[in-house]
Amino acid sequence: MKVTVIGGGIVGLSTAWALRRHNVEVTLVEQGPLPNPLASSVDQHRLIRYAYGAQTGYTRMVREAYQAWEAMWRDLGTRFYAETGTLVLSGDGDGWAAQSRAVLEAEQVEHLAFDAATVTGRWPMLDGAGIAEAYFCPSGGLLFAESIIAALTAHLRDRGVTFLTGTALRSLDAATATAVLSDGAHLEADRLLVAAGAWTGRLLPELAPVSRPSRQVVVYLAPPPDLLMPWHHAPMLLEIGAASDAAAKGFYLVPPRVTRDGLRTGLKIGDHRFGPEADPGGDREPRQDEIDAILDTARHRIAGLEEYRVMQAKTCFYDVERDERFQLAELGPRAFAFCGTSGHGFKFGPIIGARLAALLQDKAELAATARWAAGETV
Ligand SMILES: Cc1cc2nc3c(=O)[nH]c(=O)nc-3n(C[C@H](O)[C@H](O)[C@H](O)COP(=O)(O)OP(=O)(O)OC[C@H]3O[C@@H](n4cnc5c(N)ncnc54)[C@H](O)[C@@H]3O)c2cc1C
Repeated sequence: MKVTVIGGGIVGLSTAWALRRHNVEVTLVEQGPLPNPLASSVDQHRLIRYAYGAQTGYTRMVREAYQAWEAMWRDLGTRFYAETGTLVLSGDGDGWAAQSRAVLEAEQVEHLAFDAATVTGRWPMLDGAGIAEAYFCPSGGLLFAESIIAALTAHLRDRGVTFLTGTALRSLDAATATAVLSDGAHLEADRLLVAAGAWTGRLLPELAPVSRPSRQVVVYLAPPPDLLMPWHHAPMLLEIGAASDAAAKGFYLVPPRVTRDGLRTGLKIGDHRFGPEADPGGDREPRQDEIDAILDTARHRIAGLEEYRVMQAKTCFYDVERDERFQLAELGPRAFAFCGTSGHGFKFGPIIGARLAALLQDKAELAATARWAAGETV
């Protein structure tokens, strides 16, 4: 069997990985280089955590995801992961954090509640003012995203996957699973998968309503020297609402780490709320007002934030479905698209790959796979 995969982000590469484990012949087409710095999957880190608001289906999917990552680490020969634990804070004690806690309880995910004084006693770089709810999950951590994409590409090359980089899909014939490429070639296969992330809506306008490219700015910070060590032992911090809730002002924080393999990653903050629609192929330079807006979301919580130096700011793209539900679409009897990962898809890469590989080999049903992808629990 031959499969063409369009897109070399975590979804396309993980699907190629899962297909090669079943000896399927794979050609992967990527418009840029690999890793492509413009892909949503390419930044120093992405978070994996069980806290998921009221979205029980995705909390459950995290368990499956951890198992699938273990299988990937075995194939790659390295664990590109640092467990940090997850600190969840909330100013109103009534929204996303409380919903997450209820699901964590129901799903028996270990977590421990404490008060504001305990938070600032344990992590003095935080300001405890206005904390109504605080809890810590020992689980959760950093996936070293860019390193994963690079290692996975090298592994797949060794495993015989054909890569066509610097080559874009121009159009496709869904009935015959034929991809028409930017160099004029017609690539035929038994099945075709489009995993084009934030570019999906431009390529397949019928999917534009469930795959809106949103501009998200993240800021890397250098803490004052005396706080470097505490930050290197800090957990990830979530003081967020649902990404679709524009009123839920908040931020997430990724702590810095130095790994045993010598990888050094920075302290990053970002706003999980969906940003404005923009062209993922357009200008990516973050503006000063965008950087200031990110800093403002964290100013109340990081004590003395004005002492921190902005090292770098970068723009990345979410591929937004309104309710943050991943979308699996049948384009024709032999062609499918996966999109709408809405700012939370990386952690599920290998398990999405395994599910899509089963679908492409006719070993799984479309409707059931689409329901699973959308985080449905029945
Ligand atoms: C700032 C930010 C923070 C995030 N934080 C987290 C997090 O903490 N945890 C988490 O789980 N997720 C997180 N995400 C979301 C996660 O990164 C994405 O859901 C995931 O990386 C999407 O992977 P993908 O393969 O669908 O898309 P991409 O990684 O964007 O890959 C799509 C690829 O398709 C290629 N392509 C597009 N069009 C064509 C074409 N016509 N021909 C050939 N190739 C094409 C692109 O060049 C690209 O390489 C975050 C995203 C951002 C932007």
